[in-house]
Amino acid sequence: MILQQLTDRIYYLPCDQEYDRPTLGYIQGDNFSVMIDCGTSKQHLDLFYQGLLQRSLPSPKFAIITHWHWDHTFGMHAFPGLTIANQKTNKQLQYMQSWSWSDHSMKERLQSDEEIEFCDHYIRLEYPNTNDITITTADIIFDKFLSLDLGGIHCEITHIGWQHADDSNLIFIPEEKTFFVGDADSEDFYHNQGKYHKKPLEDTIAYWTKQEFNWHLHGHTMPKTKKELLEFLQQELDTLQ
Ligand SMILES: [Zn+2]
Ligand SMILES: [Zn+2]
Repeated sequence: MILQQLTDRIYYLPCDQEYDRPTLGYIQGDNFSVMIDCGTSKQHLDLFYQGLLQRSLPSPKFAIITHWHWDHTFGMHAFPGLTIANQKTNKQLQYMQSWSWSDHSMKERLQSDEEIEFCDHYIRLEYPNTNDITITTADIIFDKFLSLDLGGIHCEITHIGWQHADDSNLIFIPEEKTFFVGDADSEDFYHNQGKYHKKPLEDTIAYWTKQEFNWHLHGHTMPKTKKELLEFLQQELDTLQ
């Protein structure tokens, strides 16, 4: 099966480290369904839709974007429904629409530290012709919090920020006690060479300690229980001491 089933109404396309393709989520409501993130490209999104077809699941009406990074947003142009992002994410997408994807421009952005080697490498891998890159902004833009009632199940979207990207959202599905987190609790790749800042990591651990949930779905790892997540983050903190 292309899509994995996590709970009664939640499915996901697992992340693919070979292309740095992140987890794509799916939440099935009685009235409509939503997906989480649009992935790296049309090809990545197409794979997700093949997975829906295979399981006879209805197409999502909305896609909720977790944060602006290319691997979560460059598939947006190919999504047939409406996309939802917070103001910060949407501003950054707007800004990136002005970027040229010529080899020269990409190298310039590396030199000015606007882009990092890690992403440059995977963008070129996903796009043999980088001129195929199309960036679109979101259809629905919110500020701090947005709740969706899918019928029998809800998505609560909170703009949390944190160190990985200051526009990161957490998406909580209370009925299934599941969080989609994008990369929110990951390291800071753009300003700290892919390492954690200590104090913000302590704050993140304190946040998760207080939440009640069964599943934590990150953009680039397999689902974790609360216990597994806290053990993992504590290990990361210990290496910083
Ligand atoms: Zn990512
Ligand atoms: Zn990211």
